[in-house]
Amino acid sequence: MAGKPPQGDPVQDAPQVAGPKHAAAGLPAIGHTLRVAQQQMGVRRTALTLLRVNQKDGFDCPGCAWPEPEHRHKAEFCENGAKAVAEEATLRRVTPDFFAAHTVADLATRSGYWLGQQGRLTHPMYLAEGAEHYAPVSWERAFDIIAEELTALGSPDEALFYTSGRTSNEAAFLYQLFAREFGTNNLPDCSNMCHESSGSALSETIGVGKGSVLLEDLYKADLIIVAGQNPGTNHPRMLSALEKAKANGARIITVNPLPEAGMERFKNPQTPQGMFKGAALTDLFLQIRIGGDQALFRLLNKLILETEGAVDEAFVSEHTHGYEEFAQSARAADWDETLTATGLTRAQIDEALRMVLASKRTIVCWAMGLTQHKHSVPTIREVVNFLLLRGNIGRPGAGVCPVRGHSNVQGDRTMGIFERPAPAFLDALEREFGFAPPREHGYDVVRAIRAMRDDKAKVFFAMGGNFVSASPDTEVTEAAMRRARLTVHVSTKLNRSHAVTGARALVLPTLGRTERDLQGSGEQIVTVEDSMGMVHASRGRLEPASEHLLSETAIVCRLARRVLGDESRTPWEEFEKDYATIRDRIARVVPGFEDFNARVADPGGFALPHAPRDERRFPTATGKANFTAAPVEYPKLPEGRLLLQTLRSHDQYNTTIYGLDDRYRGIKNGRRVVLVNPDDARELGLADGSYTDLVSEWQDGVERRAPGFRVVHYPTARGCAAAYYPETNVLVPLDATADTSNTPASKSVVVRLEQSAAN
Ligand code: SF4
Repeated sequence: MAGKPPQGDPVQDAPQVAGPKHAAAGLPAIGHTLRVAQQQMGVRRTALTLLRVNQKDGFDCPGCAWPEPEHRHKAEFCENGAKAVAEEATLRRVTPDFFAAHTVADLATRSGYWLGQQGRLTHPMYLAEGAEHYAPVSWERAFDIIAEELTALGSPDEALFYTSGRTSNEAAFLYQLFAREFGTNNLPDCSNMCHESSGSALSETIGVGKGSVLLEDLYKADLIIVAGQNPGTNHPRMLSALEKAKANGARIITVNPLPEAGMERFKNPQTPQGMFKGAALTDLFLQIRIGGDQALFRLLNKLILETEGAVDEAFVSEHTHGYEEFAQSARAADWDETLTATGLTRAQIDEALRMVLASKRTIVCWAMGLTQHKHSVPTIREVVNFLLLRGNIGRPGAGVCPVRGHSNVQGDRTMGIFERPAPAFLDALEREFGFAPPREHGYDVVRAIRAMRDDKAKVFFAMGGNFVSASPDTEVTEAAMRRARLTVHVSTKLNRSHAVTGARALVLPTLGRTERDLQGSGEQIVTVEDSMGMVHASRGRLEPASEHLLSETAIVCRLARRVLGDESRTPWEEFEKDYATIRDRIARVVPGFEDFNARVADPGGFALPHAPRDERRFPTATGKANFTAAPVEYPKLPEGRLLLQTLRSHDQYNTTIYGLDDRYRGIKNGRRVVLVNPDDARELGLADGSYTDLVSEWQDGVERRAPGFRVVHYPTARGCAAAYYPETNVLVPLDATADTSNTPASKSVVVRLEQSAAN
């Protein structure tokens, strides 16, 4: 019945396995969408809510950061967007009675799925030191408790202010302002764990840490390479864009260790033809070995250099730097070793080359499959080398396209949520607000965990998210979190991070994207920035889930007034009353937001400037687009071991578990499964359906074990396995991170599979 959470905690993982699917969406997606929506919201609310998602006068989907097309469909959402909305607009409630019925210790035994299914938080809740239960607390008292702990710190740098990518631009801008006025740059955010490698590589090579293509460019491209990404589950409306690009003549190369239904065929539910027959998407599937992407692009670059007339000499000589050194290193690449690193055949590389040479407008799209490896930054630099060689930057239908995760993760970074802020941003902040912001770099996610582990950080404040489940090395992270004096989570729903607490803890319930945000000056809009740098408004329409909720922005304003007191000359009260006043300040501090309020009033919003795309101007250290020369790296695999990538199921968005099925991969009612190539399984003596423990091996010699996984013989690349996070985050060592970006290397974990006691 709508509004009633599932009874009992189905932690009994009993996966049923059938063969993987070969098409995404279609009628089944409509069925699943309506079933989940009805279960959470009931019929009337489902209609009211889903018809407003991603509409010009509606609210932005709290799911991923895929952009809106100019012309919106009546139903402008995907199955997973509907699940994200349904979980936020659910009629289920987590009230003080719920907390009275469940100790924190009990909540810590519950699955992430069960916790998330309980519904929306209704009251600020406080866990006093030594208490077993959270108890209701007033907002004033809650801010007092935070102020007590913050002002008791020996230094502002003992506080951590984490941001999850769902936070609006307005709240993010004020949050970083508060943290800096308090005196720290400790602003770790979820980008640190996902596209930080993209930001690092792109800032160095083209001068802007963001993608250079707009949605229209995808429709104009004649070759789209989708590498290390599973759009069918993680950015489903991207499939509509790929279908349209194909209809316009584009060809698609998919690079992935796993065959994914969404990249094989897309059954677009928006058209009868699409719904039943669908459109084949991938023209060439390169089943790469995990971590073999740098090697692949190095080989393509080597062959382009060896092909007469294939290099765009005019572009290279006018707009780039470092070509000779790069070309020398690419030509010197050892063919056999580099090919081995890819796990592909010469014939496959040659076929890819033919498609590349036939293309005049090439886009490369990528996600975590490229960003979460030790060598991710050199890999993404090699992708840029590949595009620069043929002038595919700053040309319509061509460019770099890192596809972001959370709906406003890119916006938060643009607003200043960054532990390594640019001096120019701090200068602008100082000019605008008249205080001297800290200049010393702060902690990113991995360094923040180390700081809590080593008692260098004592207060952890999270604006959204589920930090302990999203982070690597679960046992280390949870132990570190429990060493804190105070943990505070601004959340819409219950999650595991609420059960892994400091000595004192607060859970502060906030408005969701779907809900009306009423402040002193009336109804407020918030703004977000999508994966392609488009900024637009979002207006919630539903009545808040509880009268006790505060918006993220109001929480920051009241906290800042309580903690900073009269010392602060920042007009926090004015900001809380009218978000337009926040946007006026953003317009003066953040480049590209001039006239912010006027421009965001345009229903479609506006595109932020991107010098490489708009003018082929590259604001890098050399003033040119930089070719880079780096040795090819790839994960080495000891005998009898497999390379594991952690990934999402189709019923999951980051750490939010919508259900226990992974429909496209043929898995039902279970999450503790490991996908293993049948030949690897035979060599390792692992029968399909048997149970195994996953044990990761890393240079620190620590044994990290994830027990009781059902072996699923699956067409992965040889030597490569896959399993879901957060269940397998325990296997990812805290210090196993990408060079330069420090992003956890969650996509290439060396594991051994041991017969499990469960057999
Ligand atoms: S593609 Fe992403 S933004 Fe669009 S509806 Fe789906 S989850 Fe939401």
